[in-house]
Amino acid sequence: MSELSKEYNFKQVEEKWEQSWDSSIYYFDWESKKPQYIIDTPPPYPTGNFHIGNALNWCYIDFVARYKRMRGYNVMFPQGWDCHGLPTEVKVEQINHITKNQVPREEFRRLCEKLTEEAIDRFHKSMGRLGLSIDWSNEYATMKPEYYVKTQTSFVRMYQKGQIYREDHPVNWCPRCGTAIALAEVEYDSRTSTLNYMHFQAEDGEIEIATSRPELLPACVAVAVNPGDQRYQKYIGKTVQVPIFDYCVPVLADPAVDSSFGSGFVMICTFGDKQDVRWWMEHHLPLRQAIDRSGRMMPIAGPYSGLTVEETKEKITRDLTEQGVIFKQEPLEQNVGLCWRCKTPIEILSEPQWFVRINAPEIKKKAEEIEWIPPHMRVRLENWTDSMEWDWCISRQRIFATPIPAWYCRQCHEVLVAEEDWLPLDPNLTSPLRRCKCGSSDFIPEQDVLDTWMDSSISALAVAGWPDRTDLRMPTQLRPQGHDIIRTWAFYTILRTQALEGIRPWDAILINGMALGEDGHKMSKSLNNFIRPEEVFESNGADALRQWAAIGGSPGNDIPFQWKEITAASRFQQKLWSIFRFSLPLIAPAEAAPGQVDRWLSAELDQLIVKTTEAMDKFQFDEALKAIRAFAWDVLADNYIELVKARLYGPDGPQKRAAQNTLYVALETLARLMAPFTPFLSEEIYHTLTGESVHVQSWPTAQNRPMDLAGLAVKEIAAAIRRYKAEKGMALNSPLPGIVVYSELDLETADLAGVANSPVESRTGKPLLEVKPIAVKPQMKVIGPRCKDMSQRIIAALNSMDPADISRQKEAGSIDVDLDGEIVQLPPQAVEVEVQTLSAGEAVDIIKVKEATVLVRR
Ligand SMILES: [Zn+2]
Ligand SMILES: [Zn+2]
Repeated sequence: MSELSKEYNFKQVEEKWEQSWDSSIYYFDWESKKPQYIIDTPPPYPTGNFHIGNALNWCYIDFVARYKRMRGYNVMFPQGWDCHGLPTEVKVEQINHITKNQVPREEFRRLCEKLTEEAIDRFHKSMGRLGLSIDWSNEYATMKPEYYVKTQTSFVRMYQKGQIYREDHPVNWCPRCGTAIALAEVEYDSRTSTLNYMHFQAEDGEIEIATSRPELLPACVAVAVNPGDQRYQKYIGKTVQVPIFDYCVPVLADPAVDSSFGSGFVMICTFGDKQDVRWWMEHHLPLRQAIDRSGRMMPIAGPYSGLTVEETKEKITRDLTEQGVIFKQEPLEQNVGLCWRCKTPIEILSEPQWFVRINAPEIKKKAEEIEWIPPHMRVRLENWTDSMEWDWCISRQRIFATPIPAWYCRQCHEVLVAEEDWLPLDPNLTSPLRRCKCGSSDFIPEQDVLDTWMDSSISALAVAGWPDRTDLRMPTQLRPQGHDIIRTWAFYTILRTQALEGIRPWDAILINGMALGEDGHKMSKSLNNFIRPEEVFESNGADALRQWAAIGGSPGNDIPFQWKEITAASRFQQKLWSIFRFSLPLIAPAEAAPGQVDRWLSAELDQLIVKTTEAMDKFQFDEALKAIRAFAWDVLADNYIELVKARLYGPDGPQKRAAQNTLYVALETLARLMAPFTPFLSEEIYHTLTGESVHVQSWPTAQNRPMDLAGLAVKEIAAAIRRYKAEKGMALNSPLPGIVVYSELDLETADLAGVANSPVESRTGKPLLEVKPIAVKPQMKVIGPRCKDMSQRIIAALNSMDPADISRQKEAGSIDVDLDGEIVQLPPQAVEVEVQTLSAGEAVDIIKVKEATVLVRR
């Protein structure tokens, strides 16, 4: 065996193993009789690069996957790619300086696929370098027909069950992206706008109305007032005239109107906001759509037709002011809904769209069947579920997405949804395989595509073998994900699994926090707190980054990236390497009766296994790694190895072999316990020891070895002797004249003699000790004030007396001093007596330790 380098060369070790590992050992075995553990891994958007936040989440997943595999589970750690969606389309538009409508659909889709494939390649590299035990036999990409056939199948089945429908309904719309978006994709931000006070002509006089959106005047369908507002009773049930556009709308009474806002009258438009939609539905108002899909005014807006919303706002405000309709303006703080992707203010348009029915009670019931880690995260899902007013709009007016497999009859306008065995298909490229009910075979393809969450919300089903396998492996065991996508990914997955199969998607959901910058803020390039995983791979290695992820905190909490944790991780790796390097030439597995100290270490190792196992079962990775570090550093390096060095270097025999074996087992066990956290270093140690991969080994099991109290006492005595030498300013290896240990535990002396570099005798019972006064120290601060000018003579007298005599008098309560015949009485505190402890007439120092008394000869 070649000698190990003094410094742990993380780069060489990590790169070597990354290249030589056989990833098929991580494949899920569909035929296995072992219990299954399927992880519904997040499929990331493959845009940009694998970042620290990804690294944190994937480390958590890998800790679980590796641990469960070692515990005997048939683990699936699949990896998907959530390819479709706006981020990629927007990027393709930016890179190629085009908009989606300037190139043919197929060409645009091809550009998106190419960009996605490049990103997936980059992710593969980073994930491999991080040492993730991904099951690449279960990789999926939602843009591939093998996957989107599943999405389309789920669409067809839910349509057939009435869980999906198409309807004209208000939806949130991004005019820039030109697509409907779901409620979960609307972000709110506060902005300052202007509140305009206007006059509306009533049948009898004028009313005042305040609005921040005068451009919606042509979409006004009513005005409303609170029924309890005494000022305006006479207007209720009458009509008022809309300025500029000169048509009449009714005055409604509705308790949702806030009388203290503006004038107390509000304008109801189709649609200014969600409240408008509520009123529109409750009061069965007509639809006056003034804004089109691209955010421009429609013909109903008369002179403003064709202008953008912003242009109209400016122009109509000017016109209304000139005409004296607007008579007052004031600033208004408002919450504005924005597109999550491009931050453009959203509009609410009524459009024929596809919707998924939301069954809130069912979703909440299923959520209760799932274990939430940490438990309080379930409340977020429940609150979101309760806030849903509309069904989930799943159609998007984009291109890079799963096509909706439907057509419309050109004759009778009936919709025709594909049958399952026609899938996968793009209705723009294929015609239906049967005629319409009316007999026509002339169809218009559906150009809308599916919301990308329609792909990813069947991830659990897809990895569990849906819809083809007869032995569907549902529910899966674990969903790891961030708290930022509880209202989307978690919510939609529970909804869809319930709708399609009537079951919960997972047994447990593990919510991880976000990785923050070192300054505690969200990582961003502009804040200059951005760290790439590759930087850490270069400087400290993947194992160090993985340790940071583990030690950073418990699941659910946000974790700042910290270089000091990376450094601490590297230091620990170096420490372990030094232990290993020292031990390797000295250790070997052997059959030999262990001594007291060996049995103590074995019991400590057992306790470590129990503690680590409990922590891993609760996903408390920080607790597990802290326990491992404490054991390696304190128990093993500082105590055990120091104690058994003499035996390890000593002559061959059962005692030496017991130490060799105990240390071997400790290192081999540590390598296995650390395998989920530091797969590279663990492999290097384990493979060097055994010639096998640590990643196909089982998790250590505790042998329930009782704590060896004698061994524990020896360890504590050794520590006490070290402290004794340190206090005396002695080198730790300097010999002492002799040590006698008294204890009822009948302690073994060989290891103590070695660590103290001194002869050690072990005796049972208690030592017989004699305390002998050997000197007195007169206390000037007591004698001086009391005896004044006699002080010098008193001190001289005290120094000439027998210390034993003074000690006896001090005990009795007063000390008599003879000054040439004159007796002076001193209080007991006038002297301090120095004593020496004697054992069998020999001077000794005493060290008290629990379970033992240690005498050190002087
Ligand atoms: Zn947008
Ligand atoms: Zn027809």
